[in-house]
Amino acid sequence: MTERTLAIIKPDAVERRLAGTIIQRIEDEAFQIRAMRRVHLSKAQAEGFYAVHRERPFFAGLTTFMSSGPAIVLVLEAPDAIRKWRTLMGATDPAKADAGTMRKEFAQSIERNATHGSDAPDTALYEIGYFFAGVELV
Ligand code: GDP
Repeated sequence: MTERTLAIIKPDAVERRLAGTIIQRIEDEAFQIRAMRRVHLSKAQAEGFYAVHRERPFFAGLTTFMSSGPAIVLVLEAPDAIRKWRTLMGATDPAKADAGTMRKEFAQSIERNATHGSDAPDTALYEIGYFFAGVELV
């Protein structure tokens, strides 16, 4: 079933000029890029995006990092896109990520881990809607 997921090329990867390489990998893996935008989140916008994590000990650091510089947000479409993109990203902690995954290749730490991907259909809907209006996705 064709599915959509929200991907983010996080500020660490944009700062290190890895966006082009990551977008190339997305295209090589046959995702359709349905929408894409560069954003520099405010702290409050990062907190809203990661609201489900607000009780976690890393919330303050994560939202400071995510608002520290520009990021690129994308809507990716493919059969089984949510699982497929998370497999390509690899584990949250790059030390545990499989060889060949984005986080193994590009992440610097468990926090500065290069990419984001929605983890389920309901979160994908929320996250896509956080950045893109329906009219941008036709
Ligand atoms: P994801 O779905 O793989 O992105 O992981 P989570 O939803 O669990 O966490 C969201 C983001 O918070 C991760 O991608 C990391 O950037 C950050 N993060 C997760 N766990 C930790 C942690 O233990 N320490 C720190 N500093 N950051 C973390």
